[in-house]
Amino acid sequence: MGVDPASNHFIMRILITGGAGFIGSHLAEACLRDGDEVTVLDDLSTGRMENLAAVRGHARFHFAQGSILDATVVERLVGGADLVYHLAAAVGVRLVVRTPLQTIITNVEGTQVVLENCAQHGRKVFLASTSEVYGKSRKAAFAESDELILGPTSVGRWAYACAKALDEFLAFGHAKERGLRFVAVRYFNTVGPRQVPEHGMVVPRFISQALKNEPVTVFGDGTQSRCFIHVHDAVTATRLLANNPDAEGEVVNVGDPRPVAILELARKVLRLTGSSSVVQHVDPKRVYDTDFEDMENRVPDIAKLKRLTGFSPEHSLDQAIQDAIAVLREGASR
Ligand code: UDP
Repeated sequence: MGVDPASNHFIMRILITGGAGFIGSHLAEACLRDGDEVTVLDDLSTGRMENLAAVRGHARFHFAQGSILDATVVERLVGGADLVYHLAAAVGVRLVVRTPLQTIITNVEGTQVVLENCAQHGRKVFLASTSEVYGKSRKAAFAESDELILGPTSVGRWAYACAKALDEFLAFGHAKERGLRFVAVRYFNTVGPRQVPEHGMVVPRFISQALKNEPVTVFGDGTQSRCFIHVHDAVTATRLLANNPDAEGEVVNVGDPRPVAILELARKVLRLTGSSSVVQHVDPKRVYDTDFEDMENRVPDIAKLKRLTGFSPEHSLDQAIQDAIAVLREGASR
């Protein structure tokens, strides 16, 4: 930690793996705004430099292009940080069902490299996990101590869920045997500006279909639901948890507990874009060209988040969709 001579405040040195990605780039901006020094490590596989356009010239911002699988690079960067946010991962249903092997390698081996170095250097780490680990549980709302119910190993989606669950096990293992300080967060369907349609996430897919006046592809009858949280809320919760000593050694859900049916989401997107697209009901197995299992509902129980931070989401889904539309529209006009 250094001291800012102008304000006499401590400057935290933050490392964000996956910082050119959707959540990571918003996190980088928030940390810089609060006076931290930020280094982003990203291999630009799904992350994009344009996500960092607002921070690239900043005096306290540094970018390293590289992989979390590169132990030498990770060692150097972790050694120079006070706090590590580990967000680098293969994400998105479309991406993970198409490349299950690469997903496992990145998400398990890569995380092991990061955690290993954090343990070795005595650095605290924030681990990004996912609501996917709850699998196909049918509970009305998922709490952190609930059972994880995964499907067969032949279905790629469960490889992703299992790999992220293993990341959490690894964090607990490093904590127990090596004294690693960590907090793990299970993000539930985070949405907003900079999320791209290519990896399968429903909100940017629907928006980009609507903006092109193409059919909006609702999987099945669209009665399945999800709870969407604005990325700005997710980032606020992320930072509150990472900086809270009471959250150390904990797994915490971060999400908005208000569900919306996917058909209703499609109609919302059509209204907010002013599109003339129609809704088309499609079979996801055809879209993904593979075995595919969908979850019916997935609602976070956020009692633990509230207890630890006092925070609950503030932005509406309409706001998140509008913010996402603005950026995707801009991209389409370029
Ligand atoms: N979905 C959809 N059409 C699409 C993409 C997704 O109807 O083009 C549905 C999908 O079946 C799921 C929900 O939207 O029920 C959320 O999908 P996403 O892949 O964004 O997230 P996850 O399934 O991981 O929650």
